[in-house]
Amino acid sequence: MTDVPYEEWRARAAGLVPHTGLHIDGEFTGTASVPVVSPRDGKTIARIASAGPSEVDAAVAAARRAFDTGPWPRLAPAERKAALLRWADLIERDRSTIALLISLEMGKPISESYGIELRAVINCVRWYAEAADKQLDESPRTSSSSLALVTREPVGVVAAVVPWNFPLTMAAWKIAPALASGCTAILKPAEESPLSALHLAALAAEAGLPPGVFNVVNGPGEVAGRALGEHPSVDVLAFTGSTEVGRHFLRYAADSNLKRVWLELGGKSPNIILPDAPDLDAAAATAAWGIFFNAGEMCTAPSRLLVHRSIASRVVDRVVARAESLRTGDPLDPSTEMGPLVSLAHHARVMSHIQAAKSDGAHLRTGAAADGRYIAPTVFDQVKPEMRIAREEIFGPVLAVLEFDDVDEAIALANDTEYGLAAAVWTSDLSTAHRVSRSLRAGTVWVNCYEEGDMSVPFGGVKQSGHGRDKSLHALDKYTDLKTTWIEL
Ligand code: NAD
Repeated sequence: MTDVPYEEWRARAAGLVPHTGLHIDGEFTGTASVPVVSPRDGKTIARIASAGPSEVDAAVAAARRAFDTGPWPRLAPAERKAALLRWADLIERDRSTIALLISLEMGKPISESYGIELRAVINCVRWYAEAADKQLDESPRTSSSSLALVTREPVGVVAAVVPWNFPLTMAAWKIAPALASGCTAILKPAEESPLSALHLAALAAEAGLPPGVFNVVNGPGEVAGRALGEHPSVDVLAFTGSTEVGRHFLRYAADSNLKRVWLELGGKSPNIILPDAPDLDAAAATAAWGIFFNAGEMCTAPSRLLVHRSIASRVVDRVVARAESLRTGDPLDPSTEMGPLVSLAHHARVMSHIQAAKSDGAHLRTGAAADGRYIAPTVFDQVKPEMRIAREEIFGPVLAVLEFDDVDEAIALANDTEYGLAAAVWTSDLSTAHRVSRSLRAGTVWVNCYEEGDMSVPFGGVKQSGHGRDKSLHALDKYTDLKTTWIEL
């Protein structure tokens, strides 16, 4: 995914000078004081400014001004498209630098930061830029004496609060449709991954987005995130993160201005393998790739492998073999397949889940070895549905294997969760595929594949995995309101 050799990435990392201020009203501001620590080696990459309530106030005021009196919402959609396309071109120009920032701040292997995340971000900004001037309003046929117009209006000021696991993809999924719709925005990145977001802000200014249209406020969730959630001048709060914090945002909205809240939350996704899967080896390889990709720090990770008893040992043996062959190492090494966990605190959390699985009686097939900042790809079998490893989101490279005897039992096990983000089924039978897919309560169901995606296809969850959809034209509904205008003829 990248031709740049390891030594070159290390040399570039040594020469990086990241942006460190808050980005408010088109300028960097604030005193850089809070260290950003790399999970790669525990070293401080940079010190950054951190927003308290008054800086959040300033950012919201800038976004409010830019929306209420600035040019952005009043531009022809084709002009907004042109500005967003310039922004995407600049992101592409700085692709290596931004990929490097992501790998340094949250530990994703550089081949994935560069090859997967940055490609997704550039594609997302271009996709919504292109969508900006292709939306049509409606004029329903009412009566001959009146004309009804149904127009989509931008909602106003959008705040996006996002996690660290795909720091810019999650941001782009919200910011790009919001800006394309004519809204203005404030992004609060996770504490672990502010540097890539700040680079994005610098490029927005360079692309000529007017001041206040896109602001970035780093800061602790309980302070900066909460201030955005409670702010009376924020019209929409778009959140990606844990279910626990999602609940906070609903409370913040209820206790402030009833702002609309969109939630993309956690998951405990089931991956069902039936004996008639078209290719059991491919199913096993995909199961392993799915749970260990991004060190398991994936909302959609297929963390529950539900496998028919008759094929369980064959499938699990292959998953274990793949787990044991994965190359774990420095995220700046292009041959690394799995990097460190994002932080020592998260490392400790994942290890406590592994400990709980052992004490609940699950059988450790491989992994669980913790080496400083890393955790070896881990597989537990003989997992029972009531065990914590089968119920709680771990967000690490830990797979729980459960066995079943028939399709109905598999569906019941799959749905036995508070989450509903994604699910998969492997079968050669078309009727079974449809029946299982219809029975699974999940926002996305994959058949004989996993993590398939496209900008034109919506993504999001049901149950406690959230509501609303990112990606696709449907995401534009979150950042626009329908206005009805009646004209008497
Ligand atoms: P998190 O919920 O701890 O933090 C997410 C964001 O919320 C961060 O910016 C954080 O600073 C902020 N925050 C934390 N506490 C807050 C508070 N009290 N008030 C306001 N803001 C607060 O999640 P994380 O650890 O960064 O990310 C992991 C979680 O994100 C997992 O649960 C994962 O499933 C979820 N996730 C979901 C999706 C999806 O699309 N459904 C995608 C990626 C990650």
